[in-house]
Formats: sequence, structure tokens, C-alpha cells
Amino acid sequence: MMIRFLRAFVSLLYPELCTGCMRALYEHERLICTHCLYHLPVTNFHQDAANAASKQLWGRVHLKAVASYLYYVKGSSVQNMLRHLKYLNKPEIGYILGKYYAATLATSSFGGADFIVPVPLHPKKLKKRGYNQSEFFAKGLSEQFKLPIKSNNLIRHTRTESQTTKRRYERYENMKDIFEVVNPNAFTDKHIILVDDVLTTGATIEACANRLLEIPGVSISVLTLAFTK
Ligand SMILES: [Zn+2]
Repeated sequence: MMIRFLRAFVSLLYPELCTGCMRALYEHERLICTHCLYHLPVTNFHQDAANAASKQLWGRVHLKAVASYLYYVKGSSVQNMLRHLKYLNKPEIGYILGKYYAATLATSSFGGADFIVPVPLHPKKLKKRGYNQSEFFAKGLSEQFKLPIKSNNLIRHTRTESQTTKRRYERYENMKDIFEVVNPNAFTDKHIILVDDVLTTGATIEACANRLLEIPGVSISVLTLAFTK
């Protein structure tokens, strides 16, 4: 009773804020307020195979399906949520949104995949941030879909090469060399959902997918939390 009272008192002084609109949250709300939740700018890309996100990757890599949950607009609640997800140590927002997203995808082809694989973060960034934000989004999807996550099989190398090699990496044909599959057999003949936070140019997704597609029988779908043009 006393603890409950103290907690209520503390939250009066320092209320938890919505990661979308920064307004104080009610006691039953978590990280995102009801208003923001009901006004999420959803893309509904999963209902249209020829959506803007899949078109972004057409002709670059062969993918089974591509969809993004939300439109990323500057100054919007989505930008704020992503800021909390990536830079303000609130990775749980990715988890929550992953769960909501997977619920809307229940009847789509995504639910029938074998594994969920988050795009690995650059080791330096991982060390600095302490977590991979895409992995939290993947966890939410995984829990709702009831599909396992495999996060240690696709790995990302650190660039410790000389300047010459570094310049070489910047050309696409070598970008997939940044990624490596530790145990390709684990992914043979599997349908993998590759998961990232934001789809912009699609270069990272393209590199990861092309690396994974070297494994016999693999098919790849892509889900991202947000889509930006
Ligand atoms: Zn809000």
C-alpha cells in the first residue's frame, strides 16, 4: 500500500512520458499513449505486393515480400519514437510496436516463415548503444508470430581495413562482404524474415539479403518498423 502510494507520488513529480508526443502517460499506458497508438501512420504495405517499400528494392535483390509498419515523417510521433528506440535507451518501444505489427500481419505470408533475423548492428554502435534496436522490434514480432529469432548466425564485421580497402567497401558489390553467415546449414531451405528499423535506400537490406541468398533454398521476406523516402 505504502509502495503503491509512493510510486503514485513519484509519478506525479516525474511522470513517464509518451515516446511519441511527450505528454504524460496514464498509469495503464506503456511508452506510447492511447492517442498516438490510434493515430499511428500505418502503411498497410502488406496488403499490396507492389508497395513503395518493395519497389525500392525491385531489380536489386530477389525478395518474397517486403513491408514496413509506419511512415516516417520528420517532426512526427514516429520520428520521436525512433529517437527513443535508437538514442534514448527505450528499446522496449520497438518490442511493443513489433507486437502490434505482427498482430496485423497474422494472415499474411510473413506468419509462415521459419526464422526472424534482425539486421546486425555495427559492432562499434552496438558497444556504444548497448543494444540492437532492430532486435527489440524482432522480439516483438517473434513473440506475436510465435517464430524463433536467430540473431547470431548473420554477423557484421568491423571495418578495420586500410583506407584503400575501405573505399572498396563503399561500392555495392563489396558491401555484402560486410555480412557473413556463420552456419549456412541452419538456414538451408528456410524462409527468413529479415528485420530492420528503418528502410531508406535499402542498401543494408540488399547487402544482407544477397549474402543470405547464397545459401541453397533460402527465401527472404523483409519487415521494417518504418519507411522513409
Ligand atoms: Zn502520445
